[in-house]
Amino acid sequence: MKNKKIFIAGHNGMVGSSVLKTLKQKGYKNLVTINKEDLNLLDQKSVLDFLKKEKFYSVILCAAKVGGILANNNYRADFIYDNIQISSNIIKSCSETKVKKLINLGSSCIYPREAKLPIKEEYLLTGPLEYTNEPYAIAKISALKMCESFYKQNGDDFYSLMPCNLYGPGDNFNLKSSHVLPGLIHKIHLAKINNSLTFDVWGSGNPMREFLYVDDLSLMIVKCLEEINASDIYSKGISHLNVGSDDEISIKDLALLIKSIVGFTGNIIFDNSKPDGTFRKKMDNTRVKSLGFTQSKSLKDGIQKTYEWFKKNKI
Ligand code: GDP
Repeated sequence: MKNKKIFIAGHNGMVGSSVLKTLKQKGYKNLVTINKEDLNLLDQKSVLDFLKKEKFYSVILCAAKVGGILANNNYRADFIYDNIQISSNIIKSCSETKVKKLINLGSSCIYPREAKLPIKEEYLLTGPLEYTNEPYAIAKISALKMCESFYKQNGDDFYSLMPCNLYGPGDNFNLKSSHVLPGLIHKIHLAKINNSLTFDVWGSGNPMREFLYVDDLSLMIVKCLEEINASDIYSKGISHLNVGSDDEISIKDLALLIKSIVGFTGNIIFDNSKPDGTFRKKMDNTRVKSLGFTQSKSLKDGIQKTYEWFKKNKI
C-alpha cells in the first residue's frame, strides 16, 4: 500500500497539506501533487488527461473553494460553481481511469438548518439548508451523492467524509474570508500588538460550533485509505460518514479562549450587523468512532499550535 500512487488534490490548502504531511509520516512514498498553474481543476479535459496519464491507485479529494460565513454568503456563485465543477471533474475522471479508491471531503453544513441534534448521517436532505452557505452545501451534497451513485452504478470504491469546523496550521487567516477560529486568532493578535482596547466578534456570540484539529482528520483519512471501503458505509444505508469533535463551544467562549492564549486583556464587541448562521450543528460521531476515529488534540492545545504557526508564517 505504501508504494501505491496516490494523488492529493488540493495539497496547498489546510486539509490537503495536512493529509500530505501525514501520509509522508506514515511512510507513503508515491504521493503526487500538482499546482494550480499546471492543472486547472475546473477544466474537465485537463483533469481527465492528467488522470489518464498518471493512473492513480487512490485519490484524496481535498481541493475546494472554501471560506467562512461572509465569503460563502457573498460569493455564492463561485462557491456553487467551482465546487461542483472540481468535484464532478475529479470523480468522473477517477471512475474512467479506474482509480481503486477515492475519498472525498465535504462539510457539516450539508445538513438541514433545523436538523435534530446530534446530527446523524441519515438526516441528510430532510429539510431546508442554512441560507448563508446553501450554494456551498449543495455542491458538497452533489459530490457525496456522486460518489454514492458511482458506487451503486459501477461499484467504484468512492465515498465521502463530512468533517465539522476544521482548524490548524495552514488555515486561511484573512479577516474577511476566513472561518471563525483563524479569523479570531488574527483579529485578537492584531488587537494585542496594536494595544487596542477591544476586538469585534461577528454576530451574537451565541452560536455553537465543534472544532477538530486538521491532523486528527488526516489520521482518519489514512485509516479510510487502508481499512475502510465504500461498502462498509453504503451497506449501512448511509451516503457518507460524519467526522465530528468532542470540542463544541459557543463563539463567545471560543473568543475568550483565544484571548487567553494570545494574551490579550481587552474586551469583546459583538457586531450584530454580521450573520450568526446556523445556531448549532453538532454531529453524531458514533459511526466514525466505531470505525476507529480518535481525537488526540484538545481545543486549547490545537489553538496554541495554530497560533504559533500563524506568528511564524503570517506576520
Ligand atoms: P460557519 O460555521 O459556516 O457559520 O462559518 P464561520 O466559521 O465563518 O462562522 C461561525 C460563526 O462564528 C458565525 O456565527 C460567525 O458569525 C461567527 N464569527 C464571529 N466572529 C467571526 C469572525 O471574525 N470571522 C468569522 N468567519 N466568523 C465569525
